[in-house]
Amino acid sequence: PKYVYRFSEGDKDQKDLLGGKGANLAEMTRLGLPVPPGFTITTDACRAYLKDGQAPDELAVEVTTALRQVEEELGRELGAAHDPLLVSVRSGAKFSMPGMMETVLNIGLNDASVVGLAEASGDPRFAWDSYRRLIQMFGKTVLDVDGEHFSRALEAKKAERGVALDYELDVDALTELVGEYKTIVFEHAGIDFPQDPRAQLDLATEAVFRSWNTERAHIYRRREKIPHDLGTAVNICTMVFGNMGETSGTGVCFTRDPSTGRSGVYGDYLVNAQGEDVVAGIRNTLSLADLERLDKNSYDDLRAAMRKLETHYRDLCDIEFTIERGKLWLLQTRVGKRTAAAAFRVATQLVDERLITMDEALTRVTGDQLNQLMFPQFDADHSARAHDLLTRAMPASPGAAVGYIAFNNAEAVARAEAGESVVLVRRETNPDDLPGMVAAVGVLTARGGKTSHAAVVARGMGKTCVVGADELDVDAEAGTLRVHGREDLVLTSADVIAIDGQTGEVFLGDVPVTDSPVMTYLRRGLAEALDTAGDVDTRELVTSVDRLMRHADKVRRLEVRANADTPDDARHAIHRGAEGVGLCRTEHMFLGERKQFVQNLILAASDEERESALDALLPLQKDDFVQMFETMNGKPMTVRLIDPPLHEFLPDLTELSVKIAVDRVSGGADPADEKLLAVVRRQHEANPMLGLRGVRLLLSMPGLIELQVRAIANAAVERLRAGGDPRPEIMIPLVGSVRELQIARERAEAVLREVSEQSGYTLDFPIGCMIELPRAAVSADTIAEEADFFSFGTNDLTQTTWGFSRDDVEGTFFKIYLDEGVFGVSPFETIDERGVGRMVEIGVERSRTTKPSLKLGVCGEHGGDPESIDFFHRVGLTYVSCSPFRVPVARLEAGRAAI
Ligand code: PEP
Ligand code: MG
Repeated sequence: PKYVYRFSEGDKDQKDLLGGKGANLAEMTRLGLPVPPGFTITTDACRAYLKDGQAPDELAVEVTTALRQVEEELGRELGAAHDPLLVSVRSGAKFSMPGMMETVLNIGLNDASVVGLAEASGDPRFAWDSYRRLIQMFGKTVLDVDGEHFSRALEAKKAERGVALDYELDVDALTELVGEYKTIVFEHAGIDFPQDPRAQLDLATEAVFRSWNTERAHIYRRREKIPHDLGTAVNICTMVFGNMGETSGTGVCFTRDPSTGRSGVYGDYLVNAQGEDVVAGIRNTLSLADLERLDKNSYDDLRAAMRKLETHYRDLCDIEFTIERGKLWLLQTRVGKRTAAAAFRVATQLVDERLITMDEALTRVTGDQLNQLMFPQFDADHSARAHDLLTRAMPASPGAAVGYIAFNNAEAVARAEAGESVVLVRRETNPDDLPGMVAAVGVLTARGGKTSHAAVVARGMGKTCVVGADELDVDAEAGTLRVHGREDLVLTSADVIAIDGQTGEVFLGDVPVTDSPVMTYLRRGLAEALDTAGDVDTRELVTSVDRLMRHADKVRRLEVRANADTPDDARHAIHRGAEGVGLCRTEHMFLGERKQFVQNLILAASDEERESALDALLPLQKDDFVQMFETMNGKPMTVRLIDPPLHEFLPDLTELSVKIAVDRVSGGADPADEKLLAVVRRQHEANPMLGLRGVRLLLSMPGLIELQVRAIANAAVERLRAGGDPRPEIMIPLVGSVRELQIARERAEAVLREVSEQSGYTLDFPIGCMIELPRAAVSADTIAEEADFFSFGTNDLTQTTWGFSRDDVEGTFFKIYLDEGVFGVSPFETIDERGVGRMVEIGVERSRTTKPSLKLGVCGEHGGDPESIDFFHRVGLTYVSCSPFRVPVARLEAGRAAI
């Protein structure tokens, strides 16, 4: 394969090969935008390097050719003694992983070229500062020297010279520092800092390849569901300098506000600074309006480039740029990360600007984003109330987070694992803080802007984040947080704080939370949501969500139902747009106070005893159904007959044995307990999930099907008499053979007929079954003969197809399986298309050979999972059923799947 592409050779659609950054640099080059010349080393080369431990032989040759072309174009040579060409070496994977991998700037500087750079730039201080930055970055990322050594030498030098800031060091001091840095490299890496520019380039490239596999990169990918085998591309780009004095600078900008979605450009600019200074959030930044004032020409060029890029990509773009002595250069662009609110607003703005269609707009938002917008917020008027406002800083990622203060990563992780909510509080975050950010409910930093690492990463994760709280003094070592002007107040990790990602407010103590505007919209409709919305931003957001939800409902082919066992759940589901109940689990109708009757049923020694136990349950269960039918009036409701193994209704074997043993010692055990123990022993199973449950239980326990069906039928009659419209569908669980369904069906129909005759109402409710065993899936054509509908129980189907115990695996060997890439995500969360999904597909195909229009649903957890919904759409299911809370997400995702 070809391992090296010049920027002028690629385009934006080659992200697999060139990574996101490389593909977009190529696209900008093709658009005629000012991109410094350079080339991209492909992900193929990275994968080969990671596989073989060395770069492919051809790579060096192709790099030489590309490099020479750049040199010819510019009339300069890499690391030459006179007017040297310098390059940056940057990672760039297919999916953006901000700050996770390595970058080395100023490649090409050595003892000779630093003098050449000093002459060419007329600025020796700049040249020596660039050289010391190279040694520091190269030492740290390529040679694995602990960065602390360099920081300490730098601090010592500043102290020795009596200056406070890096840029106050003069040429002399920097020249000395370069010498000291070289010594540090030699002492800790065991080799001299390489003077050969090409060796620097090759070593830095390999370091970027290796950084694909660092721990933090792994954590990030797992969290973002990015496959571990993609590898990164490497971009070699001519250096341009934002730190060449007051007419230079560097910045990041967005074609719309990525945080609120407000239209109008947005950005941060730093005068006389180099790229990483902005992202690291080390210094406070200027706005684009400031830039316009400082350098109108560059500002105009930038605005023109922004417009060109947004029109070209037809989406919000973010751009990294550098101005070198009054000349604008674009160093990166991509379709920008944004908050969930911004995603919805920008999508409909672009529709209104006639840049995209509604269908496209729907593909620009995701169920996960909608989910984030449904999270609760602080009470709208909370700031007016008595909460103790500590400070107000920059809102970087929305939501409301309340938790104990955690000052470092390890603490955040440990306390979150112990079940506490923590807010990670840092002076500033860096990529090593990732595990802590994942564990925390929110992130608060004292420094940095909206484009700082903390802000970018938190937005990507949908985690509440407030940054740049410069009135806070965070002392991680001492474990204290102080607030300027409040000398009496010293907060520690025993204190709770609340941060508001919408307003940037930070409160002391627990602040109550309420529904978000989007939740209000979903629960109570658009009019009320608009009524209660406090500002224009909120109103625009709610309107965008409404438009996109309605479009999703219009285009989707999948129906959306909910899993609901109680009238409350059912109501929640309807409010969120569910078209029916796809799974009403009836086991709770046997629990609680009713457990006694179930025990009597199991213990019954005679028909009489059994019948009296059943008679006791009947009216209770009928009332349950009446309530459900009333709530679901006119909408289908799939009632699943009892499924779990009997032991769930009986006392625990060990506990009961112990109790009896104790009672015996202290004067004799209750004979009823003794009798119960015998039954518990008899019912005990080594593998209850593969035992007496589902249809097996229904067929072996006399009177059970009849009880449940009679309760359903009686409830239906009661509702019909009251003028209601009950629409039960009776579902038999864990069927493996058509004969099982046939027997269950005959017994159910007999009861329906009987109640129908007594009452005079027609009760021909559909009777179907769950497909949750591989045997059921592969013999679906036969089972379909007896079924009016199927519902795939993908929880059990995953359990039985993989042979994984759904109750035991999570948190055990699954961790290893995820790390080792057996699967990228738990198959209990996202449908395993190859295996379990194939079972579903076979079930669909075969059942429809028997009954072409058989109604097919899914009611496992996967019914609410975005990726799985797409799959269920593709295989042609009729509906998905999911938890009430996920119904809106499922509607949106079903719409997206249909486009
Ligand atoms: C299933 O197995 O997917 C299902 C919906 O049933 P349950 O989770 O109750 O076993
Ligand atoms: Mg099941």
